[in-house]
Amino acid sequence: MGKIRAFFGRLFAGRYGLDSLGKFNIIAILLFLILLNIGYAVKNNVFVWVVRIIYILLIMLFFFRALSKNHVKRALENQKYLGVKSRITGWFRLQKQRFRDRKTHIYRKCPYCRAVLRLKRIKGKHRAACPKCGASFEVNVR
Ligand SMILES: [Zn+2]
Repeated sequence: MGKIRAFFGRLFAGRYGLDSLGKFNIIAILLFLILLNIGYAVKNNVFVWVVRIIYILLIMLFFFRALSKNHVKRALENQKYLGVKSRITGWFRLQKQRFRDRKTHIYRKCPYCRAVLRLKRIKGKHRAACPKCGASFEVNVR
């Protein structure tokens, strides 16, 4: 038992392991496994081949990253992934708020810094000051 443990300890020593991108990679692998079975069920050979290739590449990518010894590079990839993920979830959160406040507020992008401003829905032309960059701009509420 001790020997096996030592063997795996040596094998995984210094390896990168599992991060958020790795977890997403596992979900993608499972998704493509389902797609592969759908392909088998409908007997579409081209579809099965395309899905199988992506499926194998995803598995290879997962092991490449998990067993990698270049922690800096893998951590950078993970940071990039988390950035994209937060942009996507942030966009959905904004749409939800927009819908919730649709009768009382409007959402406008600051033309200078592109920050999204939540403004009271009062009809007419107004000047809005951006709290992020301090610039002010014309807003027309209909
Ligand atoms: Zn601004």
